[in-house]
Amino acid sequence: MDKMSLVPFLNLKAAYQELSNEIDAAVSRVCGSGWYIGGPEVEQFERSFANYTHSRFCVGVANGLDALTLGLRALEIGVGDEVLVPSNTYIATWLAVSAVGATPVPVEPKLGSFNIEAADMAAYITPRTKAVLPVHLYGMPVDMDAVCVMAKAHDIYVIEDGAQAHGAKVRGKPIGTHGDVVAWSFYPGKNLGALGDGGAITTNDEEIADRVRKLGNYGSSIKYYNDERGANSRLDPIQAAILAVKLKYLDQWNQRRKEVANIYVSAMADLPIQLPRTPAWADAIWHVFVIRSSARNALQEHLRRDGVQTLIHYPLPPHLQRAYRDLNLEKGRLPIAEIYAEQSLSMPIGPHLTLAEVGQVTESVTRFFRQ
Ligand SMILES: *Cc1c(COP(=O)(O)O)cnc(C)c1O
Repeated sequence: MDKMSLVPFLNLKAAYQELSNEIDAAVSRVCGSGWYIGGPEVEQFERSFANYTHSRFCVGVANGLDALTLGLRALEIGVGDEVLVPSNTYIATWLAVSAVGATPVPVEPKLGSFNIEAADMAAYITPRTKAVLPVHLYGMPVDMDAVCVMAKAHDIYVIEDGAQAHGAKVRGKPIGTHGDVVAWSFYPGKNLGALGDGGAITTNDEEIADRVRKLGNYGSSIKYYNDERGANSRLDPIQAAILAVKLKYLDQWNQRRKEVANIYVSAMADLPIQLPRTPAWADAIWHVFVIRSSARNALQEHLRRDGVQTLIHYPLPPHLQRAYRDLNLEKGRLPIAEIYAEQSLSMPIGPHLTLAEVGQVTESVTRFFRQ
């Protein structure tokens, strides 16, 4: 076989290059403006992103973890409270709950679906449960209609982790305002990514928006007067200006990811692997494209030799991380999260993957199972 070219997992440089004229102009506009914290660029992006997510309010913060943490603080969740979280998420979801002094209570998804479901959450609710924190994992939205009905019945808050879900929809309604507050990350590799760190919350509740803004600004809304012990967590105006450019292309770029995902699904349909399933009501935005195979490690090595970069989301679930050893959730306690960690493999996907590269990936996977 010919020497094949490298298929990158995600080409961030190509994403910059496609928009470099507009991005460079935005950056130099901020540099020349004299506003380096807050100001009109941040306000304008907040308005655009609120509009995009059909939310009344958007508040920029420094990163996705802060968006989650400040969202929880705004809901007054803290010591002694329990928050339901997925067992198979990125650890940031759990860390935010721990950061406010509350306890993450892991809920398992069903095998074959990445996300936790409302019906499975109810069993974990205790008198101390204050909120549920669903994650729209890999860009696949959670059924928020069902979650909100369940949360209302139990009188608990809903805070969503939207870090992987910019533009995802449930029954046509974008992620942004189903729950009480949605936390967003603009980490460079996300579907809407800055050229550095960034984050935001969206909400329809003015009080929550005001509290997050205050908490991210030293607990102050009047300079040098501090109502509470806040943090310094603000969206940088240079990043806001870059995000405002990239937001205009988000739907188009999500569409390109969807085309790649559709090719993967049809080209790999007959192979002995588990492919992601999209419920009829869901618009997924394919932050990553995760397949599952009991031969995962051998498959990853085979792809690597063929020049195909893959990643594992995530190799060790939060409950088995040393950071959470005090919870005493030993191996075997959350078997579905553990199966995902052992069997998941994320294929290259992104708006700049070429059809030739997609073909190279599917051929390599097919050869692994058919040789
Ligand atoms: C990326 C991510 C975060 C954290 O975002 P940062 O901006 O890196 O702090 C939180 N939750 C999930 C599910 C993520 O993927």
